[in-house]
Parts: sequence; C-alpha cells; structure tokens
Amino acid sequence: MSDNPYQILLTPLRIGPKTTRNRFYQVPHCNGMGYRDPRALAKMREVKAEGGWGVVCTEEVEIHPTSDITPYIELRLWDDRDIPVLAGIAEAIHRHGALAGIELAHNGIDAPNNFTREVPLAPSALPVATFTCQPLQARAMSKKDIRDLRKWHRGAVVRAEQAGFDLIYVYAAHSLSIFQHFLSRQFNQRNDEYGGTLENRARLLREVLEETQETVAGRCAVPCRISLDELRGGDGLEKAEMEDVIGMLAELPDLWDVTLSSWENDSMSSRFAEEGHEEKYFAGIKKLTTKPVVGVGRYTSVDRMASLVRKNVLDLIGAARPSIADPFLPKKVAEGRLEDIRECIGCNICVSGDFTMSPIRCTQNPAMGEEWRRSWHPERVRPLSGAGGGSFLIVGGGPAGMEAAHILGKRGARVALAEAGGELGGRVLRESKLPGLAAWIRVRDYRAMQFHRLPNVDVHLNSALTAEHILEFGAAHVCIATGAHWRNDGVGRQRTSPLPIADAGRVFTPDDLMAGRAPGGEVLVWDDDHYYMASVLAEQLAAAGCSVTYATPATEAATWTRATMEQAFIQRRLLEAGISVLTAANLEAVTKGGATLSCIYTGRTTDRAADAVVLVTARKPSDQLIRDLAARGADVQAAGIKTITAIADALAPATIAHATHAGRKYAEEIDARPAELRREIVEV
Ligand code: ADP
Ligand code: SF4
Repeated sequence: MSDNPYQILLTPLRIGPKTTRNRFYQVPHCNGMGYRDPRALAKMREVKAEGGWGVVCTEEVEIHPTSDITPYIELRLWDDRDIPVLAGIAEAIHRHGALAGIELAHNGIDAPNNFTREVPLAPSALPVATFTCQPLQARAMSKKDIRDLRKWHRGAVVRAEQAGFDLIYVYAAHSLSIFQHFLSRQFNQRNDEYGGTLENRARLLREVLEETQETVAGRCAVPCRISLDELRGGDGLEKAEMEDVIGMLAELPDLWDVTLSSWENDSMSSRFAEEGHEEKYFAGIKKLTTKPVVGVGRYTSVDRMASLVRKNVLDLIGAARPSIADPFLPKKVAEGRLEDIRECIGCNICVSGDFTMSPIRCTQNPAMGEEWRRSWHPERVRPLSGAGGGSFLIVGGGPAGMEAAHILGKRGARVALAEAGGELGGRVLRESKLPGLAAWIRVRDYRAMQFHRLPNVDVHLNSALTAEHILEFGAAHVCIATGAHWRNDGVGRQRTSPLPIADAGRVFTPDDLMAGRAPGGEVLVWDDDHYYMASVLAEQLAAAGCSVTYATPATEAATWTRATMEQAFIQRRLLEAGISVLTAANLEAVTKGGATLSCIYTGRTTDRAADAVVLVTARKPSDQLIRDLAARGADVQAAGIKTITAIADALAPATIAHATHAGRKYAEEIDARPAELRREIVEV
C-alpha cells in the first residue's frame, strides 16, 4: 500500500485498448509552433511525458486542405507526407512511457483556407466564423461533401495510427470543429437527415465515431472531445441538449473529453474564472456513460484533483495550462513534492503564443517553448562552468531578479539577492493586490519556496542598494533587475512627446494607485498601454465609489488582451461596473478640472470634466544604478566586478513573462556565449 495521499491520481486506468499509467492527462493544446516548428513542438511534448503525464496529446491537427486555419499555426495531417512529423511527436512522447493522443480536426466554418484557397465548408451557407471577420462565406455541404468529409477523416485516422498514436480523437468542441457545427443550431440550418432534430444534427458525429472505431479496430483508443455548452443561451448548444447527445452516443467513444465552447469560455483567465469553474458543467456526465471522462478547470490544487476522482466526477484530470506552467506536476505529486509545483497563475500569456503565431511562452515556466530551441529544461540546469566563476549580486527581487537568482542558485553559484522592499515579488507583489489578479503572487511564491532549498542563495530584504554598496559588496557579476516605473507625462504609443498638463491638473500613475495614493470623485483613466492595467485600475476605482471614464485611442478596451482571450470579458466588466468606455479617443491635455480629448480619426476635440486623470501609457526603466556604475568605471574594475548587466524591466519594460524569461536567459548565458537559437530551415 502506498502512503501517498494522492495515490488515487497515480492509479492506472484503461482507455479502450490502452492503459494510462496515472490520471494526469494533458489535453490537446495549441502552442503557436505546429507545422512550422515540429522539433521544438516534439521536445515540448516529450518534456511533459518525462514529467509524468499519463497521456500527452497534440494540439488540433488539420485533416484536409479544406480545414486550413492560416494564419494560425497548428499541425497538419493532410496526406502521407505529413506522417513523419507526427511520428516524431508520438515517438518523443513514448520515450517516457506516456500515451500519445492526436486531436484530428476539421475546422469547417472556422477555416478560411487562406493558404489553400479552397472554398470553406459548413453545414449551412454562412460567413466564416473566424476571429477576424474575414469577408468570406462557407458553402453548404452537399451529401457528397459529407461523404467526402467522412472519407478524409477516415484517411487521417489511418495516418494517425501509422504515425504511432495511441488515442485518436474525434473532435467536436470549442466551435472549432465541423462536427460541432453540425450539432449546433447556431450553424446547422439544414432540413435533410443531417439537420433539424438533435438526432439528425448528431448523425455526422455518430457516423464518424463509428467509422473511426471501425478503422482502428481495437488497436487505438478513440476519445471524443465535446463542448457541454456554447454559452449562447438557446441560440446554441446548452448543457441539457449536450447531455442528450452524450446519452445517445454514450458507449461509442472510449473516453469523453468534456469542455466548454468557445475556446475563450473554456480557457478563462484567473481574472475571470476560478479554478474548477467548469465543474458545474461536467458534474453528472459520468452517469451518462460507462466510459472514462476527462475534464479541465485550470486545476493546480492536488487535493481538489484527488477529490474529483474520489467522488467519481472525473476519471482523469485534464490540464493544458497547469501542464505548461509545470510539465513535472505529476512527478512532483508522485514524489510528494507538492511545494515544488509551479502553479499556473491563469494569465493566458501561453494563449498569446497561438494568437500571435509565435512559439508558446509561459509566465511561470520560462523554459516553455524553449526546450529544443535553447535546450532549456523546466527542472534541470547545467552546472556553472569556470567562465561564470565568482559570486553574483542580483539587485531587485521582482520576477526577473528572483528567476535569475533561482536558476543561478540551481546551477551552483553563490548568489546574493538584494531587494529594497520588505518582501520579495516586485511588480507581482503590487499587482496581485489588484482586483482579479491574486493568483499572480504564485510567480513569487514558487521562487521564494525554491530559495529555501538553495543554501547558496542569500536573500537580503530592506536592502536598497546604491552604486557605493555594489562596489563595496565585491561580487564578480552584478545583475540589475530593478524594474520600471510608470510614466507620468502621457508618453506612450499615441503620443511620443509629453502631454500638456495644467499646473492645477491632477495626474496619477498606476504606481500611485498601487501605493495607495488614489483619487476620488470623477476620474478619467487613459489607456494607451492596451493590456490589463488600465482596465483593472478602472475597475478598482469604480469599486471604491469613483465615477470612472475609461478612454483609449484603440477601438476597444484593452485591445491586446484579444491575444489572451480576455478582451470581451474586460469590456463587459467595465460596462457592467457602470464605467463609461470611450474609444478612438486621444488625450490632448490635462486641464484644470478635466481633460481635453480628441477623436483619433477627425481630430475633433471635446472637454471632459474630471477631478483626476490616471495615465496608463508606458514605463521607464529604473536604471539609475546602471548609469551610476557606468560613471565609475575605474572603481568597478578595482572592485573586481567582471560584468554588470541590466535585465528585464530595468532594460526594456515588458510583461512578467518577459521578466522571468530574461532572468533565466541571464542565468543560462552568463558563462557561455548565447546559445544559437535552433530553428527549422526549409530545404529546397
Ligand atoms: P522585473 O519585472 O524586471 O523583475 P520588478 O519591478 O518586478 O521588475 O522588480 C524590481 C524590484 O527591484 C522591485 O521589487 C524593487 O523594489 C527592486 N529594486 C529597485 N531598485 C532597487 C535597489 N536599488 N536595490 C534593491 N532593490 C531594488
Ligand atoms: Fe498559466 Fe500563465 Fe503559464 Fe499560461 S502563461 S500556463 S496561464 S502561468
């Protein structure tokens, strides 16, 4: 008998003809690498398998040229020539004893076919449903088209098995699959045997499930990924109807993988949804089928995971983001090292990789996406070589300084980390106190916990260092990670020269508000930053009783958060909090008792009364130390300092994910020339 209290999560389970070694199931997730970066992708999946996940799946894999979602970069299995790339991924996953799953997908009305220029296919003739509202319509599929689609899917199943996958998905979720488009009245307005009644709308899914099972003939497992609710009310699929679908098809797949639709409802950030927010949807699904059920909910609490399995709510704990933040989560549970788990903070920066068509990145796990490109591993580091000899002084205990100290500590260096404040964390300490961002403190907590295990890392709090202190300290390497501060002059994207501010104008920055210096009355929040900060502060001010106007030169609030799938949630929250949202508005001047705004298109100006203006535009590096040290070259040399390096926000302000990445990069490269960034070269 194991004495691991989480043994239930470590128990094997049969999925059709296959057996997973435990209940940790990495559900399919996109990563912005896909067909462009196959080796980087294979290595990323391999590291998850090494970290103990029982099942590791690919992202969606387009099965045919009529399912081309360019510009997004996923995998493709259009024909036999794609098999080797997929086989490489399956092999990498198998190397560490995990089952390999492949999510075959036909994107139907969601595929604009920008690359192949095929006519998009859908149950009914409607505009393509891409994020970019492309001026393109899909044609309604004929019976022959449906027969062709089934044939293409069957062909992809054969190729997936040849590539070595154990689990071959039938995907009907996230509004990204043609099988869901047939299921949903939202897209299916047919009046033949594939439209109308639920049974008719589910016909194609039934046929494809049957054909997939027939094709694999008991050699592979066939999961079905389905969305339990489209969250569109009666216009789309709702839970009751989906329970009927699962009831009808109950025993056909070997596993039910249940989600919400669309993707932004499934992968909500921690600002908008708690851990386990999908439980109310998947509760009761197990009563409808004898097949195993996997569900997600950004689970990082191991107690909660075990309880879901114990209570027979789920058989397997699905994870995309928790497996990105910590590819070794299962191993840590097996080894009883829960305090070493790097918990996902729910910021959705990982999602931005897909939306910006760039390799996946993660705020908590800077090695994510870099496993092959830079040979970074989420757990292992190279011991420091002679070239990095001597001690390190890291100035600044924010995410960058903490990560640099953590990795250097693991590499065996002698490290002093000096932080001016009384607590570690830097910007995450401040920002995690803002509405909805509490989980962000995990960036600090994980690293602070690691310092307890590293006797060679000394943390000095309440230590605001000057150049003099640094010279006295006498470290061989000095890393300046002193962060940045918000500008109070309005300089940002829209205007690159200072804003006219009347003497009597009251101006605040995010730093003021986070330090407790908050305005009251009527407040104008000016967002030329376009990420989360301005909206979070507007929310906070409204909750404190201010009458808030949020203004931005963009045409929607927090426009960059489209990449984290938060934009619509943010705008809704602002509006529901009674905040007036002004878009396409430039800030021309802060006046006595208000502000002058102009339309970004016509230049027409309007005056707006405000007791205070909060400027959320850009940040300046806090790099005084660098300048002070540069002025004392001879003293630096005499002190035996070999290198002085500014990193992260102290060099060029960016996201927290950039800061942890910069910390890791510094710690990796101090004793070596920067590693060559591996990339795929097309052979011609
Ligand atoms: P980053 O995101 O680059 O890690 P942060 O702003 O989060 O930057 O963190 C920078 C940290 O550096 C803050 O906690 C700040 O208190 C600290 N800091 C700034 N100047 C000094 C200094 N001179 N000595 C020690 N710590 C400093
Ligand atoms: Fe979690 Fe953020 Fe990492 Fe994504 S980027 S896995 S949401 S910590």
